[in-house]
Amino acid sequence: MLPTSLRTNTCGELRISDINKIVTLCGWVQKTRKLGGATFIDLRDRYGITQLIFSGEDGNSEILNQEGFSRETVLKVTGLVIERESKNKNLPTGDIEIKLQNVEILNNSITPPFTIEDETDGGDELRMKYRYLDLRRNVVRKNLELRHRIAIETRNYLDKQQFLEVETPVLIKSTPEGARDFVVPSRMNPNQFYALPQSPQTFKQLLMVSGFDRYYQIVKCFRDEDLRADRQPEFTQIDCEMSFVEQEDILQTFEGLIKHLFKTVKGLDIASIPRMSYADAMKYYGNDKPDTRFEMKLIDFNSTTKGKSFKVFDDAETVIAICAKGASEYTRKQLDELTEWVKRPQIGATGLVYARFNIDGTLKSSVDKFYNEEELKKWAEICNAEKGDLILVLAGAEDKTRKAASELRLEMGNRLGLRDKNIFSCLWVIDFPLLEWNEGDPNLLASLAGRWHAKHHPFTSPKPEDIELLNTNPGAVRANAYDIVVNGVEIGGGSIRIHNKDLQAKMFDVLGFSKDDAQKQFGFLMNAFEFGAPPHGGIALGFDRLCSLFGGADSIRDFIAFPKNNSGRDVMIDAPSEISEEQLKELNINIITKK
Ligand code: ASP
Repeated sequence: MLPTSLRTNTCGELRISDINKIVTLCGWVQKTRKLGGATFIDLRDRYGITQLIFSGEDGNSEILNQEGFSRETVLKVTGLVIERESKNKNLPTGDIEIKLQNVEILNNSITPPFTIEDETDGGDELRMKYRYLDLRRNVVRKNLELRHRIAIETRNYLDKQQFLEVETPVLIKSTPEGARDFVVPSRMNPNQFYALPQSPQTFKQLLMVSGFDRYYQIVKCFRDEDLRADRQPEFTQIDCEMSFVEQEDILQTFEGLIKHLFKTVKGLDIASIPRMSYADAMKYYGNDKPDTRFEMKLIDFNSTTKGKSFKVFDDAETVIAICAKGASEYTRKQLDELTEWVKRPQIGATGLVYARFNIDGTLKSSVDKFYNEEELKKWAEICNAEKGDLILVLAGAEDKTRKAASELRLEMGNRLGLRDKNIFSCLWVIDFPLLEWNEGDPNLLASLAGRWHAKHHPFTSPKPEDIELLNTNPGAVRANAYDIVVNGVEIGGGSIRIHNKDLQAKMFDVLGFSKDDAQKQFGFLMNAFEFGAPPHGGIALGFDRLCSLFGGADSIRDFIAFPKNNSGRDVMIDAPSEISEEQLKELNINIITKK
């Protein structure tokens, strides 16, 4: 790195070839130790750690002897680069050390509330509160370096493909993407509110009407949803839109981006990304974002098991099996524990039936009374089971059982070590349904319950051959919508849009908007469609999730510099927080507090 006024080098760059140079470094004291007559200090900055050595007879002994340095003191040190006697192979600078000639304390530090080390003693909340210290730790900083790299490579790829990065506004009007909006009161327009964008969806479509042809933006989006490990109220998307395209063009372009990122950031060559219809994903994996690192597909067990006097199966709406390879030697205890696991409310199964295909070729099940060995052989055949496999069977109501089977599959995948974080399996899921019946989703406004709801968003176009069904069987209409899934995580999704005013009006009608409401909320878009809107479509990739996936982590939190906690709070700056009476008055907001 180029020298600055305060330093000649960083703490990560000196090597054996620098021996005999006089250098000046700045950084934080990682640790100090005394050994014999000498004092050793590890000095740390973003680039690495360099060992400093001071042995009594040198100048500046006063400052070194008197104080010893407490952790995190900021030093400016000057000295001679010398070869280390005992080298440290684990450090890039491990061949050298700096023989100190001069030390200046640039700033003191009080004792940090947790150790600034890879394995820290600080708990989650504490580290969140002192996030700026947590960010000094290698592991967290590396995540943000990875994030930076992914952003740069995204820009490189999209720039080469003629995409223009355009910024869209943050203070906007509600866009119904399926979640609640965060709203911002307007001082200059009393009683009126902006909404923070859930995504720049309508703006990017308007940019297509403007003829921008290819747009992208790495952009903050805001959704007021209940939080989970992989959700944050504000998150970042790689948001893109293209004109004069069909679904195939988008899949090709963004398959290109995914491959480019894997290649340049992780050094991995990704094969062509397979595609699966939503219907198949649900049928074989019970899930619209299947983890395809392993098989263990869901098997329809209805005709195999019904009519043999086993009431549980006979009475069930559906019976589904999975075949866990090499798990026939699961002990009774393990199986009991697995049964308890599927009965947890989050999974919701009523019980678990199993059949072992033993190594010696015999078959034994937990329902031997109803199914003899001949019958079990058929089970094994349908499951393609081999000696050593374990068949697990769930039965009950269709949706619930499929979901439980999907969870059980993932759990068995975990237990059998089939979900290696270093293996990446990408998949396009296509042909999503256009609409979904909303029974009352806790993440949606209550007033939207008992209505059709856009599965993707209201601007997604139906497949032309299904448009007629909008009048007769809306639930059967398929959309020109697609998701990209990696290792069972939805990394992004998009669609070909409606670009025709009448079809867009029809869509709002199906979604239960009155003509007036549709005009009020989306008049700007439908009007724009009257000025020669080109056919267009796009996609948005979850940038934080992509980073955590590349970083081999489950949570996106550690890939965001200043994240919120599970209750949506920033515990470091203490937000959200109350505002003063004066501010409230200016905003024309009356807070009614119940005494
Ligand atoms: N705006 C959509 C979303 O945020 C993505 C898209 O359709 O491009 O999910």
